[in-house]
Amino acid sequence: MTDSQTESSPEQQLDAARKAFEQEFERFARFTASDLETAVAEERAVADLRTRHLGKKSALAATKKLIGRVPPDQRAAFGQRVQAIEAGFTQSLDSAELSLKYYIQKERTARERIDVTLPGRRPRFGHRHPITLMRERLEDVFVALGYVIEDDREIETDFYNFTALNIPENHPARGWQDTFYTTDGFALRSQTSTVQIHAMQRRGVPVRMIAPGRVFRRDTPDPTHNPMFFQVEGLCVDRGITMAHLKGTVAEFLRRLFGPHTVTRFRPSYFPFTEPSAEFDFSCFKCKGSGCRICKNSGWIELGGSGMVHPNVLRTVGVDPQEYSGFAFGFGIDRMCALLYELDDIRLLFENDVRFLEKFR
Ligand SMILES: [Zn+2]
Repeated sequence: MTDSQTESSPEQQLDAARKAFEQEFERFARFTASDLETAVAEERAVADLRTRHLGKKSALAATKKLIGRVPPDQRAAFGQRVQAIEAGFTQSLDSAELSLKYYIQKERTARERIDVTLPGRRPRFGHRHPITLMRERLEDVFVALGYVIEDDREIETDFYNFTALNIPENHPARGWQDTFYTTDGFALRSQTSTVQIHAMQRRGVPVRMIAPGRVFRRDTPDPTHNPMFFQVEGLCVDRGITMAHLKGTVAEFLRRLFGPHTVTRFRPSYFPFTEPSAEFDFSCFKCKGSGCRICKNSGWIELGGSGMVHPNVLRTVGVDPQEYSGFAFGFGIDRMCALLYELDDIRLLFENDVRFLEKFR
């Protein structure tokens, strides 16, 4: 503020503030936008004008502080004038801003309109990975059998990956299931059986679920092994569940996947978390049992492991093995994929080679 303004009366200062605004605003009152860039710049200028003439540090705001210098009988009138001028500024700025905004929006919409005469760019459609397709087929079969699909973490504690599954420390099974450990007691799960424990803790029993997912083993990659692969785990716990239910379920899902004439057989085996345990095979879907390359001329394809849930596993999740029993089974999704698509090397599934993956459209 200059000295002459400081010395002038409140009325004079108010007039000066009004004149200064009117002078500056004049070009906005007459402005008609002709292009988007100018309009955007003008919109910013209007905002700036608002700050300078209506803001806390504006000349108008300063005049409000001068009310004490106005003779008492004129104070009310002075106050009303300040308010009227302030309202005038606001109205002028609002209307300028509104017309600029309208113009800007109109121009932007026009620019974004699609030119239908331009030649199109054909998008490259993706598709699902063969393992995903296989997993979805399996999920459909089990959902139809009344199973829910469970998903859970891939990084596990020692408890869920081993101890809760009846594999205490120093148990030899820890050797052939060696996985990848982190420094603070966690490990990448070596089997989807961990989900059984989480699911029973979360849902309680009875339970019927499958858990498809990634698992990890410390394996050297070769045509039939990979350190990361996919498993699906099945669990059914209820009162009165027997080995017959297990055999019926496995036979049924294999029939639904490979056709009504598929035959299943069970061979006694050992797994720490089931007792008794069995591995299961099914009759070759390609040669129907007469022998071919896929079944290595045996007529049978080995698929997975199964058994009755070990009482210790049930006890771990607080289920009484006297009252409840259950069965569990598991097998490799990628192995099933390799069988169905006759892949000689399982690693093809993980190499992300588009030439290979495109065959599964
Ligand atoms: Zn065969």
